[in-house]
Amino acid sequence: MTDKSSLPMREAFVPPDGATRVLLHSCCAPCSCEIMEGMKQSGLDVTVFYYNPNIHPQKEYEIRKEENKRFAAKLGVPFIDADYDTDNWFARVKGLEDEPERGRRCSACFAMRMERAALYAKENGFPIFATSLGISRLKNQEQVYACGRAAAARQEGVSFWDYNWRAKGGADRGAAIAKREGFYRQNYCGCVFSKKARGLEE
Ligand code: SF4
Repeated sequence: MTDKSSLPMREAFVPPDGATRVLLHSCCAPCSCEIMEGMKQSGLDVTVFYYNPNIHPQKEYEIRKEENKRFAAKLGVPFIDADYDTDNWFARVKGLEDEPERGRRCSACFAMRMERAALYAKENGFPIFATSLGISRLKNQEQVYACGRAAAARQEGVSFWDYNWRAKGGADRGAAIAKREGFYRQNYCGCVFSKKARGLEE
């Protein structure tokens, strides 16, 4: 079976506990595009939650956010533009600046974003939330998902959907959608420390 753009469709997503309303924390359009399309094609009521105060500088943040917002509008997916509270992010990772990627700084960064997503889900009647953060092969998916589960455990009635979005062709399909849409491809994770580590920070 193919969709309108001739990409092979994956099997329908089935959230746990019969949920149909899903809050999807998104880090960027290239990571979330396939999940967004798949959820729409699966008949789910998906809302994108964009909360990424880690991204530096603000210009880069705006580029990633606006691209994600445009793609959500194209699919008819509501887009929640959350805070760019960088002061809180820097406070959260204080003392962890020199950690390598996949280290303790990243755990703190994931935890902060998952906690805010879980809180928004709780306050707005979403029984399930998920994140696009784990789809990249550059990330330790279990590290991300441990933070998602811990954040959900603090909000009664909210569950974290720890589906492996990379599997069953998800990662390849995401790359194909990103190419089809001509998305901007960032060359560092997001924070100033990851940018410095790649020799990209002036
Ligand atoms: S490298 Fe990425 S995940 Fe790790 S702290 Fe920086 S922005 Fe967050």
